[in-house]
Amino acid sequence: MFTRDEIKETATALEEKTAEEILQWAHTTFHRKAVIATSFGLEDQAITQMACQTFSNPIFFTLDTGRLPQATYDLMQTTRERYHINIEICFPEAQEVAEMVEKYGPNLFYQSVDLRRRCCEVRKVNPLKKYLKDKAAWIVGLRREQGITRNNIKKVEWDESLNIVKIAPLADWSQERTWDYINKNKIPYNKLHDQGYTSIGCSPCTRAIKPGEDLRAGRWWWENPENKECGIHIVDGKVKRVAKVNQ
Ligand code: SF4
Repeated sequence: MFTRDEIKETATALEEKTAEEILQWAHTTFHRKAVIATSFGLEDQAITQMACQTFSNPIFFTLDTGRLPQATYDLMQTTRERYHINIEICFPEAQEVAEMVEKYGPNLFYQSVDLRRRCCEVRKVNPLKKYLKDKAAWIVGLRREQGITRNNIKKVEWDESLNIVKIAPLADWSQERTWDYINKNKIPYNKLHDQGYTSIGCSPCTRAIKPGEDLRAGRWWWENPENKECGIHIVDGKVKRVAKVNQ
């Protein structure tokens, strides 16, 4: 459909388009080979609303790591019912999880960055790669304002680790604009946001932020800011590889 070089030219022209126009372009270009990733964050909820308004039968998927907060499962249920959509769920390989937990314990992520990335690899990255294997593009809720690991993302770019097109329709949206859209359209959102959580992932790796902190400060808060990605997204055009730990 598109190669790495071909998408660069198209991507430059698309940078000025609105989020709705980007979604429409993705649908027209990739049809059912474009899928929408959701972890039920504010941005994902905004994209879900837009996609349901823009074209019929969008394909949504989520990664269920097995460690999500109850509030996220509640929102998953609410979102399915409100939009009358099915959300495909990608689970990690049970055997891989069992071996990791038996070897390093259930809370291995607090022991080292390598082990935290190992957990993200098993519970998120591997299921994601498997799911996206036969897709041409994936749509994500990343915004540049979300922190130093994300301030160079493009609305449309080549995903080096997955070899497909990555589309971030809200790349240039602010936090305030996202909330305005959520409130104006009465879109359901994760109740943890009302308790000071700005970015919500797995329960043991997410906390509320304090005034003045970076929006993603509550994710893996015990690590340095430059480490705050799970291996799914690329930083500054480079593949941020998941470090291997001794097996
Ligand atoms: Fe594991 Fe935490 Fe990554 Fe979830 S966010 S996959 S619990 S390390």
